[in-house]
Amino acid sequence: MQKDPSGLRSVFDTGEMVFLTTLNSVVNENKHEDMIKLDQKDLKVLYFLKNNARMSLTDLGKIVDLSPAGVTLRINKLIESGVIDRFTIKINYQILSPNSQRYEFLGNIDFTKASEVIQQLQATRLFEHIFLISTETNLKGITLPLSQKDLRVLIETIQQIGLEKFSLLPVLEVHEGSPIFDLQAEDVTTAYCPQCQDSFTGEAILSRIGTQILAFCCRECKDEFVAHYNKLLATE
Ligand SMILES: [Zn+2]
Repeated sequence: MQKDPSGLRSVFDTGEMVFLTTLNSVVNENKHEDMIKLDQKDLKVLYFLKNNARMSLTDLGKIVDLSPAGVTLRINKLIESGVIDRFTIKINYQILSPNSQRYEFLGNIDFTKASEVIQQLQATRLFEHIFLISTETNLKGITLPLSQKDLRVLIETIQQIGLEKFSLLPVLEVHEGSPIFDLQAEDVTTAYCPQCQDSFTGEAILSRIGTQILAFCCRECKDEFVAHYNKLLATE
């Protein structure tokens, strides 16, 4: 087992198996049937591909200590199991269509008609995301960048669908979440929390700390560890 610079073990050095649930299991009643057995190398592959899906097999292999063929095998397993839903690209709309504007959509619908209405809105191909939420204004969406013509088409379509009360508000700026994200696993068989300095099972939070990816037993442990780590960096 290797030591990281802070003198603590990294979960990725233990060779232990961890579990990760597929994303859609959150709303799936058969939660446990979706549980997929993954090891720490799979998780690491996921972590890096999430940030850069074009990362070369050679570079990924170096990180997880596998041959390019070994990495391919794991990626295929992640695709087959549904953990990787699809690979996509991120478009810079500022360059592609600088005069277009995103809108926030808010509307009210009868829950019994929700799926039908959402399908009709999706069919316009003008939305980036549509959410059904639990407030009185229960339908929310973010459009793709729209031209004035697109906007008119969208308004007409919404009226045709029969949504009488709705709003489309211009989005001034889009700010994404942190590019350094955490990966949450719901059922890790055995991992090592560098904060507790003990093995644990169950929920785990995988987080990038410096150059390493570590597994924590809870968010409090992660926060404490990060605070400690930042203090160490500051005194260096
Ligand atoms: Zn802990």
